[in-house]
Amino acid sequence: MDLIPVTDLKQWAYCERIVYCRRAMPAVGKPTFKMKEAVAAQDLMESLEVRRGLKEYGLEGARRRFNVWLRDESLGLSGKLDLLLEAPEEVAVVDFKLTSGEVGQNHRVQLAAYCLLAEGACGVPARRGFVYRIPDSRVFALDVTDEIRRVVSASVAAIREMAETQCCPEPTSVRGRCVDCEFINYFADVW
Ligand code: SF4
Repeated sequence: MDLIPVTDLKQWAYCERIVYCRRAMPAVGKPTFKMKEAVAAQDLMESLEVRRGLKEYGLEGARRRFNVWLRDESLGLSGKLDLLLEAPEEVAVVDFKLTSGEVGQNHRVQLAAYCLLAEGACGVPARRGFVYRIPDSRVFALDVTDEIRRVVSASVAAIREMAETQCCPEPTSVRGRCVDCEFINYFADVW
C-alpha cells in the first residue's frame, strides 16, 4: 500500500472530496505555497520572533533541522517537515503557515501527523507541535493529544478505503470553501 502524504490528511480534514479530486484529476490542482514556505522557513527561524516564540515553550535550544523528509510504514504516512526540533527528551515540529487565517482543524491534523512521523524517526515523544503564522509572526502551540492521534489514524484508514473503492466523498458542509475551489465546476451537487 502506498504511503499517504501528510498534505492529503490536511486536505481531508478541510474537504474529503478535494483528496479524491486531486487523485482523479491531478492536472487540475493548484500549485501549493509549500515550496515558498520552505524557502522562507530558514530565514524566519533566524528571526528573533520565532526564537522568542519557541523559548516560551522551552525548546529554543533544540537542534534544528529544516525541510526533513520522513516516511513511516507503520503509520502509513510520508511528508516533509518544515522544521524539526530535536531535544534530548522530546521532539517537536514547526509548520510554517503562509496565510493569515485561523489555525484550523486541518492544520492541527497535519501538524499532529508530522509530529508522529518525527516521534517515530527520533525515538522520543512528540508532545507538542507549533504553527508559525508568517503574516503576523505568531507561534501557536498545539498538544499532540490521544484524540488527535486517533484522528490521524482514522484519516489514513479512510483515505486508503477511498482509494480502494474509488468512491467520491460527500462535499464539505462548509460551502463557503467551495467558492475558491478549483473543482467547483466538476460537480453539480455543490451549486
Ligand atoms: S468544490 Fe467544495 S465540495 Fe467540491 S472539492 Fe471543492 S471544497 Fe470540496
